[in-house]
Amino acid sequence: MTARIIDGKAIAAALRADIAARVAQLDFRPGLAVILVGENPASMVYVRNKDRAAGAAGLAAATIRLPATIGETELLAEIARLNADPAVDGILVQLPLPRGIDPNRVIATIDPAKDVDGFHPLNVGALASGQPGLVPCTPLGVMRLLAAAGVQPAGARALVLGRSAIVGRPMAALLLAADATVTVAHSHTRNLAAECRRAEILIAAVGRAEMVRGDWIAADATVIDVGINRRPDGRLVGDVAFAEAVEMAAAITPVPGGVGPMTIACLLENTVTAALRRRGRRAGR
Ligand code: NDP
Repeated sequence: MTARIIDGKAIAAALRADIAARVAQLDFRPGLAVILVGENPASMVYVRNKDRAAGAAGLAAATIRLPATIGETELLAEIARLNADPAVDGILVQLPLPRGIDPNRVIATIDPAKDVDGFHPLNVGALASGQPGLVPCTPLGVMRLLAAAGVQPAGARALVLGRSAIVGRPMAALLLAADATVTVAHSHTRNLAAECRRAEILIAAVGRAEMVRGDWIAADATVIDVGINRRPDGRLVGDVAFAEAVEMAAAITPVPGGVGPMTIACLLENTVTAALRRRGRRAGR
């Protein structure tokens, strides 16, 4: 049987439309400030896309471009200025940063209530201990995809392949908070294929092109492929061998058009959440 395709593009478009409708009802415009340091080409594309999506959803979006030569002290001072600006609800510092600037110190300087990437240690701790906070956009996007596809994590055996701070770890914490039985696999995991085969929900966030083969996947599994890898021929592929997996799984996300579009939509959602919480209002989700 061929798997059902989970259409991240359509689900993200619906989420963005929903956010725009919520923003239109507000008596203020949530503000998002994105800081771009230097001229990393990939970062410039990401930042432009974030700015456009935020504007289209009715947010007050501003991109702050700083030269690669900026010192850490000046960058921290810029963040402190945004922390103090009441019109700014969300602050995102595009990573990676130029050498010589400590990303951990930069992230720790962002007001946790405005940390729409969810990387501040207070938000990381809140997620790890099951308390409300701001959650990283990509794993939040995966949870939204599962919900939209009608997949219930509660009681399900979930396997997260990868344990990075930005995807794997927060993904595992979100699935645990949603009552899944969670296994986290990584480069030291023995018999990875067998571990994957036990999963009813398999999240691949490993950064290795098409590493997860069709025979690693259980027949009833939902497969969410976070990976974005460029083949030598320029083709974008995920961490899952899609052509094989689509013949095995019950449901699967494509690459591109799966998790990718959800990340920006969830950044917008986080900005609205931060804006409402800062004003003592319920975020509604
Ligand atoms: P990292 O490189 O930070 O983490 C990769 C993880 O995979 C590590 O935990 C590593 O284990 C594990 N790993 C690597 N090789 C193996 C292996 N052979 N067997 C088992 N485990 C392995 O990557 P990220 O989490 O940042 O990103 C993962 C993927 O997701 C990438 O393709 C990235 O491009 C994509 N991505 C997509 C986003 C989107 O918006 N769709 C957003 C962010 C990332 P260990 O810890 O032991 O080293």
